[in-house]
Amino acid sequence: MDEPRKPPIELSTRVQALPGMGVTRAKRLAKLGLKTAQDVAFFLPRDYERPAPPMSVDQLREGQPASLIGTIADAELVSRSPGKSVFGAIIQNETGAVRILFFNQPFRAEQLLVDQKVMISGTPKLNGLRMEFTHPQVTLFDSDEEITKPKMLAIYPLTEGVRQKDLRFLVAEVLDAVEDDLVEVMPESLRQSAADRLREADIEIRGACPTIKTALRDLHQPNSEQSMLAARTRLVFQELLAMQLALAIRRRKLTSDLQAPPVARSAMIDARILNRFPFELTADQTQAIKEVSHDMACQFPMNRLLQGDVGSGKTVVAVYAMMLAVANGHQAVMMAPTEVLARQHFATLGKILEGSRVRLGLLCGSLAKSERAETIRATAVGEIDILVGTQALLYGDIQFSKLSLCVIDEQHKFGVGQRVALRSGGVDPHYLVMSATPIPRSMAMTLFGDVELSTLRQKPPGRAAVNTYLAHDGWKDRWWTFVRERLREGRQAFVVAPRVMASTDEEVDDETGEDISSVETVYRDLSEKTLSDFRIALLHGRMRPEEKLETMKAFAEGESDVLVSTTVIEVGIDVPNATVMTILGAERFGLAQLHQLRGRISRGSHAGHVCVFTDGELPPSENERLKLLEQTDDGFELAEADFRLRGPGDLLGPRQSGLPPLRIAHPSRDIDILIVARAVAQQMIDEDPDLESPEISLLKAQVMRRYGKRLDLGDVA
Ligand code: ADP
Ligand code: MG
Repeated sequence: MDEPRKPPIELSTRVQALPGMGVTRAKRLAKLGLKTAQDVAFFLPRDYERPAPPMSVDQLREGQPASLIGTIADAELVSRSPGKSVFGAIIQNETGAVRILFFNQPFRAEQLLVDQKVMISGTPKLNGLRMEFTHPQVTLFDSDEEITKPKMLAIYPLTEGVRQKDLRFLVAEVLDAVEDDLVEVMPESLRQSAADRLREADIEIRGACPTIKTALRDLHQPNSEQSMLAARTRLVFQELLAMQLALAIRRRKLTSDLQAPPVARSAMIDARILNRFPFELTADQTQAIKEVSHDMACQFPMNRLLQGDVGSGKTVVAVYAMMLAVANGHQAVMMAPTEVLARQHFATLGKILEGSRVRLGLLCGSLAKSERAETIRATAVGEIDILVGTQALLYGDIQFSKLSLCVIDEQHKFGVGQRVALRSGGVDPHYLVMSATPIPRSMAMTLFGDVELSTLRQKPPGRAAVNTYLAHDGWKDRWWTFVRERLREGRQAFVVAPRVMASTDEEVDDETGEDISSVETVYRDLSEKTLSDFRIALLHGRMRPEEKLETMKAFAEGESDVLVSTTVIEVGIDVPNATVMTILGAERFGLAQLHQLRGRISRGSHAGHVCVFTDGELPPSENERLKLLEQTDDGFELAEADFRLRGPGDLLGPRQSGLPPLRIAHPSRDIDILIVARAVAQQMIDEDPDLESPEISLLKAQVMRRYGKRLDLGDVA
């Protein structure tokens, strides 16, 4: 009889078609994302078991991992009942002897024969006077073979019903079958230059980057820590390089397709603008202005994100840029997410520009029809130099006579592909986008590949600090007494209510998906009991825009003492007199968001106080994330931590990014490799814009397959 021929395993072979695979097992493996042989070959170990170096018998300690080299002196298989057996053997060397045990693995009797030379690794236990290893890792050796160190073993993520052993076996089997079919997308020259660049960045890698075949072998069955790290670096680098190539192609497309009016800066203009500010700029502001001016002098549109904590003075940078545009005879527009904020900017600009010839315009929802029409007309004919307004209005078809700069304030959601189309005379304006949600550099580089970044890290001098308290059980009374004292002194207070997800649609806040009833409950409670002596207002995303505006305005003007709200206050409101904030249900917020909220009470010269409560079992002081909030006032540090702990989700919705998920690389952990990949990608595109070199045709194909459609890279293909 012929043996049935096994079908060959290819990269595209489905897991359920692998030899010996049952439906149930295939389903379990699918839960780990393993659907094809390729998935298995690229399945990333979570960690490695690192067996201890070989020892002598007297060095063995109970409970401490150890390895031992020796010869099998005695072996016995005892069957107790069908399917139940014990295999025991003595391993002996010149320093003594130990026992090894295997339960229900009768095949061990055939493998571990007397006189066989072996190395065992595991954790021994003392049994009588002898150390005993149960189910050790065993390596067999020919008697004259030189014995080196025990092998590292990959540890894979598991799921129910899938054992570590099964995965190791499966990976080994697949790797043996497919490793000669792997496609190498990084040619030798690229592997060499990438390694050089990685070394320059202090990332350890010997020689060139390993080939894909070596890399996968060393990822799953490394011979040493070093070869494992080199393998990982190569795979991470490749994945990030593909992404950065896609982003570089896109950047190039944008800059070659679009044109913007160059805006020049001179020493005289600079001095004239700076004269208008009543204070010295911080070093960070000066640096950001330098970066912005540099971009604006170019013939293609600036696309720059200016980030800085609430109160770091972003407006100054924007005002500078707008005045620069005006000094060049152009127009500028500034968009805010809310009318309150638009009016605030309009007032600020009015003050700074008092007595100058710069003409300001305001466009927002509450203007009378005739006023609006007049502003729109004046903008179109160039009688307005700087137009401030809400985004909603400005996205309409407003005409400019010569627009060269568009500033977008308090923008939280960007993503590749999100751009505003505000064209004027066939050219695009420069874009300056401002955000108080700090975006970790690693994330900015991955998600916003076509955005440049400026950062204000320092705060202007003279800011009172915010004191952050993590509430303990039984603090409520003390805290509310403190709040009442501040209110009696004439200060104002925010209460941010828990963000409970609603169970019925009825209660859902359209903007935030929060349960309004919980805010309303808090509001009622405070009005009727805790703060019944004070004027309390309620604010949530479900109110009509005019109602919201009215409520915020009244609070800003001191007509109410306490504002109970959902996170809608996150954006835009500036009330220097508000110095206390109570945050309820804090475990439901991201760190970046909590930090934003806290920023609302650091606007004035009075010290701010924020007290953080949780709804959950754990008090805030036991919550690792919340502890960070107490420990640092640096929004960037918090954003990085948030990114590490919760992923990017809190900063932007996954749909915002427009990029497929990374499989191996982690932008935050692999930031150093990311920076190198970005530089290498940029250089490759500079030298070969359409990636036409035949050497990299496979790499290009991979980039286009993965990113072409999503990033609209069509022309290059
Ligand atoms: P944000 O970054 O939150 O938009 P703003 O631009 O509104 O911050 O600035 C916050 C406050 O700090 C404003 O009142 C502004 O006038 C003030 N400010 C900005 N820059 C400086 C500076 N260099 N020195 C002193 N005060 C400054
Ligand atoms: Mg601002």
